[in-house]
Amino acid sequence: ERMFGYRSRDMVGKRISVLMTEPFSSEHDEYLGRYLQTGQNSVIGMTREVSGVRADDSVFPMEIRISEFYLGGLRRFIGTLRDITERKATEAKIIHLAHFDALTNLPNRRLVQDRIQQALITAQRTGSEFAVLFIDLDKFKNINDTLGHDVGDKLLEMVAIRLTASLRAQDTVGRQGGDEFIVLLAGLSTAEDAARVAQKILDALAVPFEIDGQTLQSGASIGIATYPRDGMDVESLLKNSDTAMYSAKEAGRNNYQFFTVEMNQASAERLLLEGNLRLAIERNELLLHYQPLADISTGRIVAMEALVRWEHPRLG
Ligand code: GH3
Ligand code: MG
Repeated sequence: ERMFGYRSRDMVGKRISVLMTEPFSSEHDEYLGRYLQTGQNSVIGMTREVSGVRADDSVFPMEIRISEFYLGGLRRFIGTLRDITERKATEAKIIHLAHFDALTNLPNRRLVQDRIQQALITAQRTGSEFAVLFIDLDKFKNINDTLGHDVGDKLLEMVAIRLTASLRAQDTVGRQGGDEFIVLLAGLSTAEDAARVAQKILDALAVPFEIDGQTLQSGASIGIATYPRDGMDVESLLKNSDTAMYSAKEAGRNNYQFFTVEMNQASAERLLLEGNLRLAIERNELLLHYQPLADISTGRIVAMEALVRWEHPRLG
């Protein structure tokens, strides 16, 4: 009575299928009818998810399970109906959490990769192009360090809103992690279109942010990779847009750069250098030098500078 809003005396003798919406209701009658006639079972002992319908016509997710037994020489059935509204809501929430970033509610890294994969399939089929923009906020650590993590979080949320507002509905903006965002511009006609969007994003982020009564300035560096020129799969498009973003940082921040092959060489060299530097202590390649600082007027040594020099066996 509580679950469906009927009085039990009104329901006695009615088919259980009146408690379900179509097509579940007809299916139920059909499957049970078939079982009674032929013994072919697609209902007994199985749990199905259907839509329940209440006396007031409201609909809710319901689980149904039918079992069979004999009593007094007669075959009988018991149907257990369970309101699974809460479980469904929890499931939906878990699915949302798995695909969306909790802070900004933007698609997360995984969903963005999925969307890029979809864009690849469409582009391969139609011969169209698209662009991936890798966005990293400039000097974001400063905001965390000077104003606190909470203000940093609020800024990230506001950046997410501005990014979304700068794009068309068919584009995707997601949070890659930290202060990094990814924009997927689907069905792009030219590289200039991508550049225009990148500039629009920079302009949107250039407007000061008001957070807790404070006015904050925040820029971003953007790297652009386009399909098919800069990559034929999700991973290389992301990697190359990241490399281009790095180059935008080096070019002085608050600008966008298109990926070029030379950038890849530069980033490979940087990676190699970094890898070598990590091993430099182990290999005894770092040499300590002390350099005296003299006071010109007296000629006396007043301080020492300590320097570390790196002598690489091959690179010098
Ligand atoms: P750069 O211009 O080189 O990008 O400088 P940056 O300070 O932005 O440096 P970077 O992008 O490397 O660092 C991003 C920082 O974002 C590091 C971390 O402290 C902070 N961060 C990462 N995730 C979060 C978050 O969820 N909330 C907040 N408030 N800060 C975060
Ligand atoms: Mg940053």
